[in-house]
Amino acid sequence: MKALINIDYTYDFVADDGALTCGKPGQEIEGKITALTKEFIDNGDYVVFAIDVHDKGDEYHPETKLFPPHNLRGTSGRHLYGSLQAVYEENKLRSNVVLMDKTRYSAFAGTDLELKLRERGITEIHLVGVCTDICVLHTAVDAYNKGFKIVIYKDAVASFNQAGHEWALGHFAQSLGAMVR
Ligand code: ZN
Repeated sequence: MKALINIDYTYDFVADDGALTCGKPGQEIEGKITALTKEFIDNGDYVVFAIDVHDKGDEYHPETKLFPPHNLRGTSGRHLYGSLQAVYEENKLRSNVVLMDKTRYSAFAGTDLELKLRERGITEIHLVGVCTDICVLHTAVDAYNKGFKIVIYKDAVASFNQAGHEWALGHFAQSLGAMVR
């Protein structure tokens, strides 16, 4: 069994005027990420939207010192970007579609993602979203340590940092044994 984990493809991380945007590279994957998401949903595969959330001015959160405020709870910055939002809205009541808040880079950190996957007998996770070298990377590392097979779509992940993006694609294949396609 496989699942698609759709990471942080939100307005704040992708739009030109998003609070912490990947910009063009993020926008260029919109078609691919939306098509893959539809394909997984229509196949009846489990689809998780793992979406960063922050509380304004949270002095205890490590990212507060590292980045400007982004993906604040209750703001439109957390809406999915472009055509992906409509796909989510159309399908959010299906039993195989779930949106999960996360507060750290990895979708496994502080969430019940692993429980949801294990309950369903899922052993292979497919990752799409942003940023390749931050949240996608940290999720992939956790997945590797937990023994999941990993598939990465190089045209459905992106970063503001091209060198980081390229490095992470190599790391997924060479150190995490991921299929990068
Ligand atoms: Zn964040």
